[in-house]
Amino acid sequence: MKIAALAGGTGAAKLLRGLARLVDPGDLTVIGNTGDDLRLWGLHISPDLDTVCYALGGVVDVAKGWGRRDETFHALEAMGRFGEPTWFGLGDRDLATHLHRTRLLAEGRTLTEATAAVAAGLGVAQRVLPMSDQPVRTRILGPDGWLDFQEYFVREKAQPAVQAVRYDGAESAAPAPGVVEAILEARAVIVCPSNPITSVRPILAVPGIARALEESRATVLAVSPIVGGEAVSGPAGRLMAACGLPVSAIGVTAAYAPWLDTLAVHEGDAPLAADLEARGVAVLVTDTLMTSPAKETALARRLLEALP
Ligand code: GDP
Repeated sequence: MKIAALAGGTGAAKLLRGLARLVDPGDLTVIGNTGDDLRLWGLHISPDLDTVCYALGGVVDVAKGWGRRDETFHALEAMGRFGEPTWFGLGDRDLATHLHRTRLLAEGRTLTEATAAVAAGLGVAQRVLPMSDQPVRTRILGPDGWLDFQEYFVREKAQPAVQAVRYDGAESAAPAPGVVEAILEARAVIVCPSNPITSVRPILAVPGIARALEESRATVLAVSPIVGGEAVSGPAGRLMAACGLPVSAIGVTAAYAPWLDTLAVHEGDAPLAADLEARGVAVLVTDTLMTSPAKETALARRLLEALP
């Protein structure tokens, strides 16, 4: 059973680990957000793709949800002494990923090829694709002007009031090779619990991907990252509000219309079911909080069992 998953970082990584325990590795294709990629110290960093690869490769720092476990930060400290920026916490082992990717890109390989090389080096058996080989950059308008996503999220700790969000470069980007095919050939497309504004919408902004979701015969299921009117973690709530969306499963549905078939919501959000169904979405009420490996697998199993 072929599955395609749209993925951001930390929330997605948990569900993908659950899916990976149930689905043949050759049947799972992950389509990752690259809207929050950045260049630092001359290196190309793809935080969401890396989080996915570290999680599927079994080397992620599970407590933090991102980065590598058993990490050290000697290079970061040494770079600080040269006056280089240290606000983005690059670890020593993590650095190897960015050096490898940047070298491959500098030699003319695509981001798709570099991502496959990173995944293979980490022992990831599933296919991990960037949404596009062309740069798309999520930018956030705060009180003092436009910020790159990581400047807003990491350097400014998501504190600036958000006035607008844009996806620079999206209009001239194309889906990476294999992305549209994976969506069209899948029995199910799973939209992981990820930030709708800064992880899922950048993927949808790449021309052709939203159309593939509409045209695909796959059942499209999403897990709401909003539980009880709040994001489980991170600034998704504030970003949704800034984009005029209600901070609830209703807002998640609005962001994913018109191709969403089923939305999984947490048990406490069951009262929203009638409203969601009136919007044409089937509702799966279940425990969506993945606080342990067993709960990751249980949620993945519920999604697969909900397939017609
Ligand atoms: P980021 O790049 O690390 O921000 O990663 P994502 O785009 O994957 O964002 C994490 C999103 O997932 C946030 O909006 C959280 O509210 C949501 N999230 C994290 N953990 C869980 C979970 O266990 N269950 C659900 N339903 N949502 C989660």
